[in-house]
Amino acid sequence: MNKITNHMPTAELQRLDAAHHLHPFTDHGALREKGVRVITGAEGVWLKDSEGHRILDGMAGLWCVNVGYGRDELAEAAYRQMKELPYYNTFFQTTHVPAIALSAKIAELAPGHLNHVFFASSGSEANDTNIRLVRHYWAQKGQPERQVIVARKNGYHGSSMGSASLGGMAAMHSQGGLPIPGIHHIDQPYWWGEGGEMSPEEFGIARARQLEEAIQRIGPDKVGAFIAEPVQGAGGVIVPPESYWPEIRRIVKEYGILLIADEVICGFGRTGEWFGSQGYGIEPDIMTIAKGLSSGYQPIGGSIVSDEVAETIAKDEFFHGYTYSGHPVACAVALENLRILEEEKIVERVRETTAPYLKKKWESLADHPLVGEATIRGMMASIALTPDKASRAKFASDPGTVGLICRERSFANDLVMRHVGDRMVISPPLVISQAEIDTLIERARIALDEAMEEIE
Ligand code: PLP
Repeated sequence: MNKITNHMPTAELQRLDAAHHLHPFTDHGALREKGVRVITGAEGVWLKDSEGHRILDGMAGLWCVNVGYGRDELAEAAYRQMKELPYYNTFFQTTHVPAIALSAKIAELAPGHLNHVFFASSGSEANDTNIRLVRHYWAQKGQPERQVIVARKNGYHGSSMGSASLGGMAAMHSQGGLPIPGIHHIDQPYWWGEGGEMSPEEFGIARARQLEEAIQRIGPDKVGAFIAEPVQGAGGVIVPPESYWPEIRRIVKEYGILLIADEVICGFGRTGEWFGSQGYGIEPDIMTIAKGLSSGYQPIGGSIVSDEVAETIAKDEFFHGYTYSGHPVACAVALENLRILEEEKIVERVRETTAPYLKKKWESLADHPLVGEATIRGMMASIALTPDKASRAKFASDPGTVGLICRERSFANDLVMRHVGDRMVISPPLVISQAEIDTLIERARIALDEAMEEIE
């Protein structure tokens, strides 16, 4: 077989892809019918495809390329580390400098008593670790019956058996016998879609109190933890009402359960703070991290745990670990990525300049006839598509039909904007310039206009 390169005709690359590559989270029928776009390179916030298009990546890949594409420093950090020590494990009684340095750096950045990192290669793995951590923690405390973890419908925590069970995605649970036992889901704090006649504040409290009701129903001696994203990402960038998190905090304290903040999207500057928890005053015992930790340049994730959790777990052996826990190349790249975020003051710039600018522009989309609400937290934002703003109505078509049309119109206009049902979401690289934000908004508006034409 000829060597397969970027220079091959697109049709040939598409043919080979269709023949051999099973894509994750993809409608394979639609893929065969419409063909796949071949991405061949990227720089800053711009992707390049095999037909020479420049596409504005409004999603930073999958919410992860926080420092943007094409950073030579990250490639060089990987190269240096591969030459020096390409792999060694951190099991039994060995360690290496990249794992030491990265865990120390994360402990420095993370708030409160979160000072210890258990490494994984993805957010899914890290959340699987969290299930085992929580259960082992309570066993060590002499309360092994505290097995249940409360999570939320329409939350996303990954795609492995454990993490997809924590997640509350109905479509995922419809396949493969999910969720696993011991996971209980409560409703999400999605006011625009589910708030009815309540004010956002009343609704936030009501949805938080579902946690208390669940604990009382299941039994306070059986519930080990509550897990949630500070702002739901893959569920459609659902920004909770301000009343939500303070009430959750009260409940977890009152019942003494562990709080897991899944910061896989929110972490490392996405919300305008180093961690989303900081903006809401959330004080987690465990934090899940991945994505922005390495800006997606290497697969790495982890669980940051408090001193108390670490001490309890470390009383004896925790029979858990991955071959690539603390992979030296991934750690070296993540460390360099954190250096870039810090030295270039990217998080501060997001908070003070970029996010306020994006907010002003994004919220202007609310005047579009198809848009019911435009919501944003830091550099993650969404709009709800609706046939009637006043009643916050849903379309008569199957959920997601209009969203898909809008996504396709967006992609055809060289903007990556994702749809979650009939919500459109963006999460651009944090380094996006104001001129690029203007382009993003222009293209989003064109996509909305074209989608409206198509459904009329
Ligand atoms: N947690 C959250 C909040 C996520 O958004 C994701 C991925 O989108 C995950 C966990 C899973 O991470 P990964 O895809 O790296 O396994």
